[in-house]
Amino acid sequence: MIIVMEPGSPKEYFEAVCRRVEELKYKAYPIIGVERTVVACVGHEDKTPLQALETMPGVEAVIPIMKPFKLVSREWKKEKSVLDVAGVAVGGPGLVVMAGPCSVESEEQVFEVARAVRAEGAQFLRGGAFKPRTSPYSFQGMKEDGLRILRAAADETGLKVVTELVSTGDIDLLCEYADLIQIGARNAQNFALLQCAGKSGKPVLLKRGIATTIEEYLMAAEYLMSEGNSNVILCERGIRTFETSTRFTLDLSAIPVIRALSHLPIVVDPSHGTGHWQYVAAMSRAALAAGADGLMIEVHPDPANAWSDGPQSLKPRTFSTLMDELRRLAAALGRTMPGRNDE
Ligand code: PEP
Ligand code: MN
Repeated sequence: MIIVMEPGSPKEYFEAVCRRVEELKYKAYPIIGVERTVVACVGHEDKTPLQALETMPGVEAVIPIMKPFKLVSREWKKEKSVLDVAGVAVGGPGLVVMAGPCSVESEEQVFEVARAVRAEGAQFLRGGAFKPRTSPYSFQGMKEDGLRILRAAADETGLKVVTELVSTGDIDLLCEYADLIQIGARNAQNFALLQCAGKSGKPVLLKRGIATTIEEYLMAAEYLMSEGNSNVILCERGIRTFETSTRFTLDLSAIPVIRALSHLPIVVDPSHGTGHWQYVAAMSRAALAAGADGLMIEVHPDPANAWSDGPQSLKPRTFSTLMDELRRLAAALGRTMPGRNDE
């Protein structure tokens, strides 16, 4: 249910409503919007006791939220969310670019990529220190050493760190080193991990699972938000279909669908979405044209020798060309992109 307050009704009325909601044993999630103030009431299935709140002073209406996801929905929050992730606005007119290697391999590799992507205007350095690999025999990541390298490279270059959490036991470590916690496609429905990331209060980049519907995906985001974490960025990264020419099928139609259903920002990962560096530029342009709030792109100084995802990684020079193209496209779309950071 959402309780909509009358425009201009006093704060005390709003507070009394929130108290009553809690007395009735629902959780109250207030939102003081530009146009209206509403309280989402989330809890047990039977919502009838809430109907009586319609008679409280200052209440305009008590309306059921029809979708299974509540806090993620546009029904609860009409305005698009603009998040502040370590000083970078995500979801506003400015586009965000997260770039870096698939895995942290060495100090030299990460610093080289960090300098290159920063020069092109990227705001986030990506890189996995904990890698969820299909094979237990594949490289599993440099773990804390990798986090330390990412942080140092980001601090030197003025980037923010986005890196993946694969286990609840690593949450404190991730919070120490990362600005944005990535939940990967393979863990998109790992509910214990989602609750843990939600509770941490750190901003979270939640990737779509390879076989999750949009509704299931938004329910995963609801897990984060129901823990009180409103700093959630969605990321479309491709889903599994019968097509084998690309590694996954990048579902760009998810962008307008999610835009209609949710207020959360959404970025696109064309690297995992296609699995081939040759297709990354086209799908990056398409993603922005479809309304994405930014991109996550894998960049490696030597893709042929990368320890993971080399075939889909751009070389710094190709990334540079793409960023120039995207800046021109952003202008046509009425969005802004950071310029190059030439020394
Ligand atoms: C990654 O970002 O390197 C990654 C493993 O992504 P995904 O979870 O989308 O496969
Ligand atoms: Mn990867």
